[in-house]
Amino acid sequence: MVSRVIPVDDFDLVIFGATGDLARRKILPGLYRRFVAGQMPETAQIIGAARSELDDDGFRAETARAIEEFAGNGGPDSARLEAFLDRLSYVPIDAKGTAGWDDLKARLREGVVRAFYFSVAPSLFGDLAEHLAAYEIAGPDSRVVVEKPFGRDLETARALNATLARHFAESQIYRIDHYLGKETVQNLMAVRFANILFEPLWNAQYVDHVQITVAETVGIGGRGGYYDQSGAMRDMVQNHMMQLLCLIAMEPPYHFDPDAVRDEKLKVMRALEPVGADDIVRGQYQAEGETQSYLEDAGNPESRTESFVAMKVHIANWRWPGTPFYLRTGKRLRARTSEIVVTFRAPPHSIFDDGEAPTPNQLVIRLQPNEGMVMTVMIKEPGPGGMRLVQVPLDMSFADALGPEGTDMPDAYERLIMDVIRGNQTLFMRGDEVEAAWAWTDQIITTWEEGRSAPEPYDAGSSGPEEALRLMHRDNRRWREIRA
Ligand code: NAP
Repeated sequence: MVSRVIPVDDFDLVIFGATGDLARRKILPGLYRRFVAGQMPETAQIIGAARSELDDDGFRAETARAIEEFAGNGGPDSARLEAFLDRLSYVPIDAKGTAGWDDLKARLREGVVRAFYFSVAPSLFGDLAEHLAAYEIAGPDSRVVVEKPFGRDLETARALNATLARHFAESQIYRIDHYLGKETVQNLMAVRFANILFEPLWNAQYVDHVQITVAETVGIGGRGGYYDQSGAMRDMVQNHMMQLLCLIAMEPPYHFDPDAVRDEKLKVMRALEPVGADDIVRGQYQAEGETQSYLEDAGNPESRTESFVAMKVHIANWRWPGTPFYLRTGKRLRARTSEIVVTFRAPPHSIFDDGEAPTPNQLVIRLQPNEGMVMTVMIKEPGPGGMRLVQVPLDMSFADALGPEGTDMPDAYERLIMDVIRGNQTLFMRGDEVEAAWAWTDQIITTWEEGRSAPEPYDAGSSGPEEALRLMHRDNRRWREIRA
């Protein structure tokens, strides 16, 4: 099977923060890969901007190093790399200053897509937006891409939305949640809405529960200061995990169209019930061998910030009464994995008399590593000896089904940047979605801040605190083992 690459229209993309970590690791290598794939027009322009005093060649040299380090696939092809670097230039600009804006304006072309990637701290969004408007660089057709964190609570998210709204219409704003750019996340929608098999069963009558796990092996490392102000709830649950929850739980949109999809996600967020203290477990990792404890990594011996959170969530609507959604995320866990597990109910009556009830079917949607889906089904164990049942996986991994091209998938950032150029907002968060997500998470955070309870300790390399296991055991359920 040959993958189809549909080229995007010609564009000028300005990356503010082009010398930063995100630009070096994700944005520039991703653009290079799309260029090599033939998706980017040969005439497209990428203009880096930051305070560092680089010239065009200096920026190209920095970018070449970043691509060698991060673009994968055994290193870049030198001819393609040269051709890509020719598309690049650089303007020194301080978001708060007046220098460089005229130069930037002069480099931009008329009649092509114009996009601005704000890969800088959110505190600079207002300055950038104001300068782009004042120098008449951004117009009503321009697009602006912003990164997480989008606020740290409802109030700050509203303020950021208001800042952007002063200069850009909602249809121009692309709020990135890179989880939405993952192949499997989109496949989840394909599986749900392009097949008749699943949707009739996709409700409380047939789904026993859903688990969403985002486990990391890394600690908070160099981000200690930032992370300690944030914690797992703000860093992971409010954005990535809630987006996954919404895609699993939402009603079928009337069309695969940005606002239709986002309207349905918003309805799920608004239907989330408040979570009681008994249904949440917070944790903090302990020192283990060479690795430091959370408190040491954070440099704050008094910290009560959680590096782990597990919770049981209910959605108050007609589709999901009584079906819990268990969310779990943490740092320094046993393995790095992100997956969603939909566990169906057991058949209502077993006709087989080997005494054991059939194991419920599970649909496991793996986001990383090895993106793919597995459905478990019961079959007869082959061979003589009567009717013995055995659970087997129906593997829907892309590698097996689609051949090598099926696995050479664009990284989430690549896909999302190309969507910006195409003007497709389906996989980006709308302002009201972000606010609804904060409204729900704020109320949980406020409750535990008022309670002043300390997070439960857990061993680095474990599955999290014992209490998180009990959260499911008390419901006669168990977490799927965290494994790579
Ligand atoms: P970073 O490494 O600190 O880079 C910040 C960039 O902003 C640098 O290029 C810096 O360059 C530039 N900058 C700082 N002050 C500026 C100013 N006054 N005017 C113009 N440019 C300025 O940060 P990052 O990790 O790349 O993150 C960028 C954004 O993405 C942040 O909002 C972050 O939260 C978000 N994000 C990052 C990641 C990631 O993996 N890194 C993941 C998700 C979200 P100069 O010093 O040369 O000006």
